[in-house]
Amino acid sequence: MRRARLTIDPAALRHNLAVAREAARGRTVFAAVKADGYGHGLLTVAAALASADIDGFAVATPGEGLALREAGHDQRVLVLQGALTTDELDLAVTRSLEVVVHDLAQIDLIEHHAAALPDVSLRVWLKVDTGMHRAGLAPDRIPGARARLRACAAVAPRVGLMTHFARADEPDPSFTDTQIERFRSVGANWDGETSLCNSAALLGSESAGGDSVRPGIMLYGGNPFIVGEAAQHDLRPAMTLTTSLIAVREVPAGEAIGYGGRFVAPETMPVGVAAVGYGDGYPRHAPDGTPILVKGRRAQIVGRVSMDLVTVDLRGIEARVGDPVECWGEALPIDEVARAAGTISYELMCQVSGQLRNEARILIEANGSTG
Ligand SMILES: *Cc1c(COP(=O)(O)O)cnc(C)c1O
Repeated sequence: MRRARLTIDPAALRHNLAVAREAARGRTVFAAVKADGYGHGLLTVAAALASADIDGFAVATPGEGLALREAGHDQRVLVLQGALTTDELDLAVTRSLEVVVHDLAQIDLIEHHAAALPDVSLRVWLKVDTGMHRAGLAPDRIPGARARLRACAAVAPRVGLMTHFARADEPDPSFTDTQIERFRSVGANWDGETSLCNSAALLGSESAGGDSVRPGIMLYGGNPFIVGEAAQHDLRPAMTLTTSLIAVREVPAGEAIGYGGRFVAPETMPVGVAAVGYGDGYPRHAPDGTPILVKGRRAQIVGRVSMDLVTVDLRGIEARVGDPVECWGEALPIDEVARAAGTISYELMCQVSGQLRNEARILIEANGSTG
């Protein structure tokens, strides 16, 4: 019998990188590895992708960049939230991290601290808001921001220019096209590097262009689009969450299962108890009917998800204690479970418990299969 276990497949990560590379057609690929490698483990993912000669990594914070450097990764590192303090600026310089500037306060910080930094030591990207209206400078602020950065001796010449798409995952490309147009009008004759694409735009928007791309979810085998399936894009799941049945019981007709009695047995029925719950990262909001595999066969959860157990409708499935259960991964697309639970694959991946993630890393290291 097995408890909840997370399996990370380095070969799947490398395969998905190959898919991204093919779509990137020669552009530089920064693998998005923020949020602990989308829940797969930052260093597990970095090791797998480094062994496939990844060009660089995109992280949210300088601390994540430091973790990559400490593990010996010397590829380019793009820090998407940039530096928020002088300590983080120092870290960017000493560990060669490239910082994004998405707010004028970050330029104030750089100007204020520039004299303490060596000349031409800080690599900077300007983020332009082309329509997402989350982080990024309005297009008309870019020329002034660039001039201020150029006046700082510490800032390396050839500042980069990037943007982020709000709706590249939708079938209708019109808003993404608008964002591309706005980017072009700001970036015409830009003398530094440019970068626009997340996974969805990399696969779906051939005209987006840019010198580099920043795929995330596709590397992990999640579907970047709100329609269809990851497999249609030749993406393989990098994460599989498994466990086993630790009990099989009969629930009499009319009796309710679990906390709150959410599911009432319409007939006397066999119910399996699987050793996984929200403490492991299984979504607590998963409703009755959320798919789960028992012995490779499709079943559905019934009753509320507990901290370390879920209950499964075993009608039509002959199952015994000890039989294997897959929550998502190799044989059950994570996107399907996410949809049933009213969320997206990104969130399910990020919510896997740190303990399972650590165990997955230890397993890979023991097998020596990162390379
Ligand atoms: C997370 C992130 C990405 C990757 O997005 P996916 O949808 O996972 O491909 C790219 N760019 C930025 C700025 C991001 O924050």
